Amino acid sequence: MTTIDLDQQLVELRSAADAYAARHQFIPDLTWPEGVRIAVNFTCDFDAMLLRRLLNEPPMQLAKGEFGGRVGIWRLIELFDAHGVKATIFTPGRICELYPEALRAVVESGHEIADHMWEHRVPKEPALEEDHLAKTVTALERIAGRRQSAHAAAIALRYSGSTGLFTAPSTQPTNGRTTSTARAVAMAS
Ligand SMILES: [Zn+2]
Repeated sequence: MTTIDLDQQLVELRSAADAYAARHQFIPDLTWPEGVRIAVNFTCDFDAMLLRRLLNEPPMQLAKGEFGGRVGIWRLIELFDAHGVKATIFTPGRICELYPEALRAVVESGHEIADHMWEHRVPKEPALEEDHLAKTVTALERIAGRRQSAHAAAIALRYSGSTGLFTAPSTQPTNGRTTSTARAVAMAS
């Protein structure tokens, strides 16, 4: 790699980081409580087999997703609870229909459940996107007993084989009404 290549990669990385930072709202005059030096936000995606289905993965891989729904999520609840950690579990609305008991257990343990699309994809058609958002908000509210505020959409990053870099698309994440948290999922083509 030449110095020019490296400089170009640094420019691209900096601009991708700046684009991401533009989505953050900074809290003015924030002070930490006495003795606290860092805040850590524990989150995980409870997708079960939905993403694997979108990617047309074979049955053995789908079974791994089912394992997550039947066993893995319960182990995570135990793990978080054993350490007194409160987490945010991002989950697609469809999971409320497939694994309602697991999600109720998440909520009963004091964790937050949050919007992670309806079936792990953002439809291109605005009317269908609206429908998915509404269905997911309703499904999560039914499980949690209150409306959720966080949202994480999967954004496919463009992967450049020549530079080995991921770059974010220039479009903003979905419907601004529900977006308080947006994360990117890197998907290599
Ligand atoms: Zn996910």
